[in-house]
This record gives sequence, structure tokens and C-alpha cells, in this order.
Amino acid sequence: DRARKDEKILAHAAEKIDESIQWVEKRTNRDEIHYPDLPISARRDEITKAISENQVVVLAGETGSGKTTQLPKICLDLGLGCKGLIGHTQPRRLAARTVASRIAEELNTTLGDRVGYQVRFHDQVSDTTQVKLMTDGILLAETKHDRFLEQYEVLIIDEAHERSLNIDFLLGYIKRILPKRPDLKVIITSATIDLERFSKHFNDAPIIEVSGRTYPVDVLYRPLHELEGEDEKAIDMQQGILAAVEELLDMERKQGRGPQGDILIFLPGESEIREAADLLRKADLKSVDVLPLYARLSLAEQNRVFQRGKGSVGTRIVLSTNVAETSLTVPGIKYVIDTGLARVSRYSYRSKVQRLPVEAISQASANQRSGRCGRVSEGTCIRLFSEEDFFSRPEFTDAEIRRTNLAAVILQMLSLKLGDISEFPFVDPPDNRYINDGFKLLQELGAVDSKRHITRIGWQLSKLPIDPRLGRMVIEASRNNCLREVLIIVSALSIQDPRERPQDKRQASDEKHRLYAHEESDFLTFVNLWDLYEEQRQALSQNQLRKYCLKNFLSYMRMREWRDTHRQLHIICKEIKEQDSKFIEREEPASYEAVHRSLLAGLLSHMGFKQEGKEYLGARNRRFFLFPGSIVYKKAPKWVMAAELVETSQLYARCIAKVDPVWAEKLGPHLVKKNYSEPHWEKKRSEVVATEH
Ligand code: ADP
Ligand code: MG
Repeated sequence: DRARKDEKILAHAAEKIDESIQWVEKRTNRDEIHYPDLPISARRDEITKAISENQVVVLAGETGSGKTTQLPKICLDLGLGCKGLIGHTQPRRLAARTVASRIAEELNTTLGDRVGYQVRFHDQVSDTTQVKLMTDGILLAETKHDRFLEQYEVLIIDEAHERSLNIDFLLGYIKRILPKRPDLKVIITSATIDLERFSKHFNDAPIIEVSGRTYPVDVLYRPLHELEGEDEKAIDMQQGILAAVEELLDMERKQGRGPQGDILIFLPGESEIREAADLLRKADLKSVDVLPLYARLSLAEQNRVFQRGKGSVGTRIVLSTNVAETSLTVPGIKYVIDTGLARVSRYSYRSKVQRLPVEAISQASANQRSGRCGRVSEGTCIRLFSEEDFFSRPEFTDAEIRRTNLAAVILQMLSLKLGDISEFPFVDPPDNRYINDGFKLLQELGAVDSKRHITRIGWQLSKLPIDPRLGRMVIEASRNNCLREVLIIVSALSIQDPRERPQDKRQASDEKHRLYAHEESDFLTFVNLWDLYEEQRQALSQNQLRKYCLKNFLSYMRMREWRDTHRQLHIICKEIKEQDSKFIEREEPASYEAVHRSLLAGLLSHMGFKQEGKEYLGARNRRFFLFPGSIVYKKAPKWVMAAELVETSQLYARCIAKVDPVWAEKLGPHLVKKNYSEPHWEKKRSEVVATEH
């Protein structure tokens, strides 16, 4: 018996040893790694030395010099990636996947074997994976379960110059765990922007700068017309793109050569890309292949952009967002057309709402874009703006933490368990005053309690990537069975008002807008407009719909943006619903009370009590006036709430509705109670509420 037992144990041990040997062989018995002729390859020895001798290295170099694709290979050559993974982060999903497949190709392995990737909802990683590409959001989420990121031996934080919130969180987090992980190697890569700042952040880490190998780029300025209306501007931009494409194709033809290279066009977003693709496909351009590039494309469609030659004829025209600015390399580009625009998430201190406006890009971004056509030979870039405009732009794009509502930042930090925001080692610590404002708002929304701990509402709110006030409305709506209406309203509030009110046609436009106005609520007016427009949209062609918009003083572009935003929110709510069955949506129309109770959950401090005339007394003793453009202006009800309080010559409430103060008392007992002791408006409000009972 004893002997049999021993035998069994021995056999088991032998099996385990066998497994381990295989495991080690898989990782060590590899072919020699080859390096393509790139600036990074040329400096390999120096980079290798710096990595072995330091815990943190900052590596800078022009786009295309080989940072992203060659660094993981240098690490593998150093023997790293055996004890733990080489983690490699990218700001965008699209880049994480393409970079992974490129590195796998260079290492002669299939994707998912030695090189894998993980993005939201999708991963291709296996036991043999040594290099793992991922979005920075994925790595951040992992810190919740793996506090010291112990599965990693190396972390490459790519594109650090982008300074997104995720990158700033990671840079802070890593700084904090370094003393506890002396074996961890960290490489920060960046375009040549503000390198000292990264080095200082990591205790004067060494900086290696690799100069790029670039060819001269001829920059031509072809400014668009100076137009007022947004739709006119959008059409003008599309026409400008077409003209620029024609100019470039013509240039080649005149030089008597066949197509020499492809064209890369930078646009602000997906809808602009789809529109331009339509226009270019319809235009009578000979032998061109139009290829859009944005995150929501299928993998097959994305692959077409990166595999030149296979099935493409003539000149390829690639239409991209700023993903191709620094994170991705589209091969074969000889020409760039730059609209000079990008969609940027920005918090408006004026209206106190987070939005995604289209903005002029910085000089650094414009230069990155034009540099994309000088990689393999000389290139030409057409900018759809003037040289004067270029020089009037800011030098760099500011970090996201400077553009974001701190309430949203705090909430994210709480949900990621990153600890106290005022003690977090940020590269750029935010101002204490704004931190306090952020906490105040979160308390008002019920997302944190009086001890500043995250609540259940806070958790839900952290999953909604919209302004916290708007997110709070959505959560409340899910409880009040009025998600349909509130999602329409919230998406309208996330964009600029789609109704046009031209200076010289005030009356005519007001008349048209009044046709679907709700008597007591500017919010429900949005729902009326939505329903009306959906009917038209299903009945009319795109051209007819444009005309309809023009006639009814609506911006076609913004109506479309409204639908895009709505669709995205809808998808997110569905995801939440799958995890939380309470998040339901009903089809029957909701009551005025259900809708406005939900909206009020996000606007408690935007309530007002009527004084003389159109003047109202609001929270913290602020006095405001009703905006005369509102339908509610005439009736001036006793109690109102407003989506925005905008400071112009006076403080104006915009987007208003009549409310019942009893709702507020139920939604915000934490506020009313808290303010009993202070001789503020809230105290008075609670008295008024009492007499109304
Ligand atoms: P960096 O990160 O410094 O911007 P990369 O490592 O991304 O540089 O790219 C280095 C070079 O590798 C590029 O200049 C290009 O020649 C080549 N390359 C990278 N990705 C691809 C790809 N998907 N298809 C073809 N060539 C690529
Ligand atoms: Mg790169």
C-alpha cells in the first residue's frame, strides 16, 4: 500500500516537472529576435542598459521611431517577460489590438500566443503570453484585485504625453507601488513633449530621446470659408476635404506618375468620417479606395487599413479620428489632409456640464498629424485652416484632469479605490478648492455620504461616462420607470441645443420652435421634438430631412449628434441592466412627475423659489432670472428647476421646468437636514415645504 502511494506521488511529481520544463522551453527556446531598421533599433544597447540599471526609464521619440513595437522585444531580449508579464498600455482599444497583432507578426507568432491583448469585452491571452497589450483602463481596473500589479514584471505606459485621466491615474498609482515592487521595471514612452515632468515625477528617472527619421513635409494652407451656421460649416468642411483630395490627385497626375502613396485624412469623429466617406465614394475620383477608421468598425474593416496591397487598387484614402495621430501607424501614407479639429471631452465651468465639443487642435497635434506623411519619403500636408489660425492656437493640448469636472474624477478614484484624492501623487495635482466643490456636488447627488465614502448611487454613477448630474438623472429615471424620456432629455443636455435661433430671424425661428413646445417644461419640449423628428426621419430621405431642418430652424448636424449620443447612452444602460435587473425601461409614456422628479435628482441646487417678477432665489442665496426664450418664462411658476445657470450680464436659468418642492424634500433629505443649522436658503426652503404640506 505504502509503495503504491509513493509511486503515485512520484508519478505526479514527474508530470509536474514535465509541465514546468515545457513551460520554460516555450519561453526560452525561441528564435533570435530581429529588429527592423528603425531609430529605436539603432539605440538598442543604450536602451537595454538604461532598463537594466534603472527601475523607471522615460523614452521619447518621434512617432514612427519604433517605441511601441520594438520596446517589448528589447525587454524580451533582456530576459524579461518570463517571471511575469510585460504589460503594455495604449490609450485606445483600436490601438491595443493593432499593435498586438503587429508585434506578434514581427515575432513570427500568432496573436494570442506570445503576444496577446485585452480590451473591454474582448481578450486574446493565453498561458504562453509574455507581452500583453491592453487599454490603460484595463490595467487600472486590475489594480482593484491585484493591488501591487504582481502579475507584471514590466509595465510600458505608452503615449504618456496624451495625459488622459487614465494615464494620470496610472502614473500616480505606479509611483506609489514602486517601493513595494523593487523588481518591477517601468518604461514611460512619450512624444517629445514635457519630458522633464515625467522624469521628475519618478525621482529624476533617466530620459532617453531618440531622434526620428523624418523627411521634409510640404505644408499647404487651404482655409475654409468663414461661415456662421454649424450646418453650413460642416458642409463646407466636407467640400474642403473633397477639393483637397482632388488637388493632391491632380498634383500626382501633373507630375506624370501613377499613384505614389496614400492619403490620410484627420476628422473629428465617426459621423464626420462616415459623411466624408459617402461624399468621396460618390465623387467621380478615378481608382481610389475609401477606408474609414474608427473604433466601432468590425475587425475585418479595420484590418483592410493595415494590410496594404491585398485587394486595393490605386490610391487609398484613409479617414481617421486622432487615433492615427500618434498611436497607430497607417502604412504607405504620403499625403495628409487635416481638418484641424478633434472631439474633446471638456467641462464647462460656465454651465457646469461635461460635454464633448469639437475643438481646434493644438499646434503640437497639428504637427504630429502632418508628420505622418514624412515617414518613408517626402510628403505633402494640406491644412484646412490658415497659417495665421495655426499660430494662434495653443502649443499643447492640456491634460484631461484640467478639463474635467472634479466630481467625476473623484468618483472614478473612489470606484477604483485609489484613495484620498488630495494625497494621491498626481503629476499635476488639482486645486484644493475644486476638490471641495467636487465633493459638494457628489454629496448633493447622494453619490458619497457625509464621510465622503462612495454610496450605492455613487457606484452606479461611476459606470455612466457622462456628467455626474446627468448620470444621476438616469439612475433616478430607472427607478421611476421613465428611462425613455430621461435618456432623450439627458442626451439633449449633453450636446449643444439643436434648435437654431439666428439673430436676424428670432421671431420666425421662435414661431417654429413653439409648435412642439411643452407648456410647463423645456425638458419635455425635447421629448416632443424628438418624437416629431423621428417620424420625419423615417418618412424622409436624407436630403429632404436636411431641408426639413432648415425650414424648421434645426441644426441637422446636431440632431444627428443627439441621436448618436442617445444611442451610446442606451447601450450603456443596457449593459447596466444586465448586471442590475432594477435598471428597467418601460415603453408606456411616463408622467410629468416621474420625469421631473428624476431630473431634479441631478439638479437639486438648481432649484429656485419665485421672488419679484421673474427673479428667483436659488441655493446658496444665489439670485437668478428666467431666460426669456423659455416657454416657462411667461407663467413664471412658484418653484422651478433649471438645467443650466449661466452667467452673462446676470445669472440666467436656461432650460427650465415647473417643479413641486415636495419632490426635493424626498430626494435630498441629507441636504435639508444638514442645512438646518445654517441660516441659508435651504432652511427657508424647508419651512416653505412644511407650509405646503
Ligand atoms: P512609435 O511607437 O515610435 O510611434 P511604432 O513602433 O508604432 O513607432 O512603429 C515603428 C515603425 O513600424 C513604423 O514607422 C512603421 O514603419 C512600422 N509599423 C508599425 N505598425 C505597423 C503596421 N501596423 N503596419 C505596417 N507597418 C507598421
Ligand atoms: Mg507608438
